Amino acid sequence: MSDTRISSTRRDVIKLAGGAASAVALAGALPLTAHAAAPMLGVMRPSVYRFKLGSFEITNILDGVRVGPGPHPTFGGDQAADTVHALLRANGLPPTSFDHHFVPTLVNTGKQLVLFDTGNGKGRMATAGNLSDLIVTAGYKPEQIDVVVITHGHPDHIGGLVQGDKPVYPNARVVFGEAEYAFWDKGEVREARKGNLGLFKKIAMPFREKATLLKPDGEVVPGIRAVNAFGHSPGMMAYHVESDGQRLIIWGDVANHYVVAIQQPDWATGFDDVKDAAIASRKRILDMVATDKIAVAGFHMPFPAVGFVEKSSTGYRWVPATYQFNL
Ligand SMILES: [Zn+2]
Repeated sequence: MSDTRISSTRRDVIKLAGGAASAVALAGALPLTAHAAAPMLGVMRPSVYRFKLGSFEITNILDGVRVGPGPHPTFGGDQAADTVHALLRANGLPPTSFDHHFVPTLVNTGKQLVLFDTGNGKGRMATAGNLSDLIVTAGYKPEQIDVVVITHGHPDHIGGLVQGDKPVYPNARVVFGEAEYAFWDKGEVREARKGNLGLFKKIAMPFREKATLLKPDGEVVPGIRAVNAFGHSPGMMAYHVESDGQRLIIWGDVANHYVVAIQQPDWATGFDDVKDAAIASRKRILDMVATDKIAVAGFHMPFPAVGFVEKSSTGYRWVPATYQFNL
């Protein structure tokens, strides 16, 4: 560039700056007829979040939310309401209303696409059932899913297996924990699970023919193994994912409120079917992920539902992950 051109550019900049200043002055003198106040648009949430785990890609997807009363007595029902309210307030949360998230996890190993839990399915509640649409938003087609792993048989985990009478993931083999499948197959459930049993029979049992039933430590695909998490449901499984030395536990419903169930893992959770076993599994897995610094994808953790667990004076503490996987 020649000296002449530089100086002419400088002159233009000075002229433009003067012009812009006059335009601002002029606009200030005119009535703002075309500039209406922006409308309120309501809450907007992120709903797809992908990160790397070694050479795998992990996508967490917000199937939906349920806003309602709580967390007490669903969480900490064996404690005085005031005690649970105080814990929530101390963590900056409202004591009597609760935003519950449903977050399935999709793992791409590079060879296989493995979906953990299917969300609520369409129609169960107005604010959930978005998984299959968001899988497309995330860049995949439901037909590409090779394996659907069901951590346990509760409606928010199996509800999206079918749409009407059609499988949502038509090419997927389905994996159940052997003990979990046997529990529903036997059909001896408490009163509160009778409707759930009907749903399991209707939409999960038809997949038995092409299903794999795993024992703890059983392999889903290379790099992904089942972990005993019995209790919340009698045969619930968590899954350990490892790639290039990086580790993640997809823990299903081991802990379902990021403050109450993690800071006070001994407190009762209303959804736990076998209370003592659920507490024992919760404490064993919390201790493992805290001690070994294993990342967690938690189905009911706040979206994007990936974080770490640290030991604290009373129990543990949920620490959301940030950028550590993206580097
Ligand atoms: Zn659940």
